[in-house]
Amino acid sequence: MSKHILILGSGYGGLLSALSAREHFSEEEAVITVVNKESSHQIMTELHRLAAGNVAEKAVALPLDKLFKGRGIQVKVGTVQEIAVGNKKVTLHDGSALTYDILVLALGSETNYFGIPGLKEHSLTLKSVDEAHRVYAHVRQRIQAYSESKNPADATIVIGGGGLTGVELVGELADELPGICREYGVSYSEISLKLIEAMPTILPMFSPELIARAMESLEKRGVQFLTNVPITEATATTVSLKDGSTIATNTIVWTGGVQGNTRVAECGIEVNRGRATVNEFLQSTSHPEVFLAGDCAVVFGPEGRPYPPTAQLAWQMGELVGANAAAYLNGSPMTAFSPVFSGTLASLGRKDGIGSVGENGIELKGLPASLMKKASNARYLSHIEGLFALAY
Ligand code: NAD
Repeated sequence: MSKHILILGSGYGGLLSALSAREHFSEEEAVITVVNKESSHQIMTELHRLAAGNVAEKAVALPLDKLFKGRGIQVKVGTVQEIAVGNKKVTLHDGSALTYDILVLALGSETNYFGIPGLKEHSLTLKSVDEAHRVYAHVRQRIQAYSESKNPADATIVIGGGGLTGVELVGELADELPGICREYGVSYSEISLKLIEAMPTILPMFSPELIARAMESLEKRGVQFLTNVPITEATATTVSLKDGSTIATNTIVWTGGVQGNTRVAECGIEVNRGRATVNEFLQSTSHPEVFLAGDCAVVFGPEGRPYPPTAQLAWQMGELVGANAAAYLNGSPMTAFSPVFSGTLASLGRKDGIGSVGENGIELKGLPASLMKKASNARYLSHIEGLFALAY
C-alpha cells in the first residue's frame, strides 16, 4: 500500500527533503505532501537585499506550485497548529488534519528575543519575504517622515545584533540609504545607522583581520558600531543599552539570534534546548519515523559542539532524508550524515564582502568574496532549477 511522506516546511531542508524523497519513492510507493505557511520557497540568504530594496521579490520567493508542478508532490499552504507524534497526526490552523507514515520536520528556527522587555513588540525582524518588505517600507517611511519632521528618531536606524544577519543587512542599507535619502531631499549625513552588538566583536566566526576589514568598510559608508554593549529594553521610540544609555529611534531591526521552532519543541519528540535531537541518520532520537532537516534540529559535530544552523547544513540534511526514509521503510541500511562545509561568506553590501572558504579557511575580501557569495546563491538556484527541470 502507498505510504504517506509528510514534510512540514519548505525552506532549504523541506524543499530538498521533498525532492530527495521523490527520487527514492515512485509515485505508486508514496504520496508526498509538503506543508508550508507561505506559498513560496524563500531564499533566506538573500532577504537582507530585499529589505534594502536591492533585489526583486521574484528572485527570493520561488512559487511552490511552480517548483513542484509535475513532480508528484502535493503542496498545502497552511500553518501547522499541532504535531501529535503519538498518533501520527498533524493539525493545521484551518482545522484540517493530516496523517503520515514518515514525518519530516523542516520548520526552521524562530527569532530569539531573550526575554528583553519591549523587543518583540517594537522591533522588525528578517525571517521571511514579508518581514523583509516590512523593513524596507518602514525605513522609507521614516526617512520620508524625517524630511518633514526633522525628528532625529526618524533618522536613526538601529540594527540589534552583529551576527551574519545584522551585518549583511547593515551593509545593504549603507549602500541603499543614500539613494532613498535623495528621493526625499534628505542628506545621508543626517542619518544615523547604528549596529549594536552585545559581545566585544561582530562576526566572531571570522579572523580579527577580516572583522577589522569589514568594520572599516562599513564605517566608511556611515555605519556606527557599538560593541560590547547589550540591548536591554526597547520601546516604540527608544532602545536602552546595558551601559545606561538610551538611543531615541523609531526603527529597530532585531537580528540578535534564533532559537528552535516552538511547534517542534512542543510536539513530544526529544529535544535539546528546543531543537530536535537526531541520530546519525537524521531520525529523531525518540521517534524513528520522524526525520529532521534544517534549523529545527540540532546536529552535533565530532567535538560534541552543535553545528550552526545554516542554509548549507539544512540543504545537505534534506538531501539525505529522502534516501534514509526509503531505507528505513524498506528495512535496508541507512546512510550516516556527514556534512561538508564549504566555508562562510558575508556580504557587506553590493560590492564588498568577506569570507573564509574551503577546508583550509582561505580568506577572501572585497569583490572576490562578494562574487563568491553571489556564485554560491546562483549555484543553489541552478541546483534546484536543474533538479526540478524548471525555467523561471
Ligand atoms: P547569531 O546568533 O549568529 O548572531 C546574533 C548576534 O546578536 C550575536 O553576535 C549576539 O552576540 C548578538 N546579540 C544577542 N543579544 C544581543 C543584545 N541583547 N544586544 C545586542 N546584541 C545581541 O544570529 P544570526 O546572525 O541571525 O544568524 C543565525 C544563523 O544563521 C547563524 O547560524 C548564521 O551562521 C546563519 N546565517 C548565515 C548567513 C551566511 O552564511 N551569510 C547569513 C545569515 C545567517
